[in-house]
Amino acid sequence: MQTLIPNPSSLIPKIGIMGGTFDPIHLGHLATAESVREIFQLNEILFIPAARPPHKVERFVTPELHRLMMTFLATKSNEKFRVSPMEILREGLSYTLETVNELHKKFGESTELFFIIGADSLRDLPTWYQAKELVQQCHFIATTRPNVKVGFSELRKFFGKLFKEKIHTVTTPDIEISSTEIRRRVKEGLSIKYLVPEVVEEYIKKERLYL
Ligand code: ATP
Ligand code: MG
Repeated sequence: MQTLIPNPSSLIPKIGIMGGTFDPIHLGHLATAESVREIFQLNEILFIPAARPPHKVERFVTPELHRLMMTFLATKSNEKFRVSPMEILREGLSYTLETVNELHKKFGESTELFFIIGADSLRDLPTWYQAKELVQQCHFIATTRPNVKVGFSELRKFFGKLFKEKIHTVTTPDIEISSTEIRRRVKEGLSIKYLVPEVVEEYIKKERLYL
């Protein structure tokens, strides 16, 4: 009789983290998260809208509650997607390292965390708060973004051997959508159909966002 011995590594929970301003959340975020979940066999993806993004102080960011609501609406039809308001509830600037430490406390130290990061944000990773410590605590899955080139040799120099161990690159479907483009289209009275989920489109209309 054949006995099935579970592979111990498959028993360790793997959680993906999709951080972002989500102003608004769009199909680029959702399709990328789903594709990474499948490729890396993650148990779930946690969408975490940022509170006061340290990198975006130069422009008006839509109030947190709206961004959180849109993230809930956009993800509710996928049972592997969850939303956490943890950064929004936290006092002060939100740093990813704090989020990762909090998640390890909540899910257990052995849970593997995979932060999904677009090529545009990966370029800036060395400037993030305590970047090396962060990469020690959590894997990074770098996804491609149309027209964005990443200087891998600089990243390799900065992170040393951590680069190979903790930063993984993956080719995801190129979806040329950005929140900036959506905000611009709404302002100009153009359609955002098929760029955001229908529930998000309705919410933007109802709450008169981005006008
Ligand atoms: P903005 O235009 O306001 O900067 P954005 O579309 O880049 O918004 P963010 O909330 O800044 O969205 O992005 C959160 C994360 O999602 C980042 O890691 C970013 O690289 C990634 N991301 C955003 N849009 C896409 C996309 N179309 N395809 C793949 N990844 C994306
Ligand atoms: Mg961006």
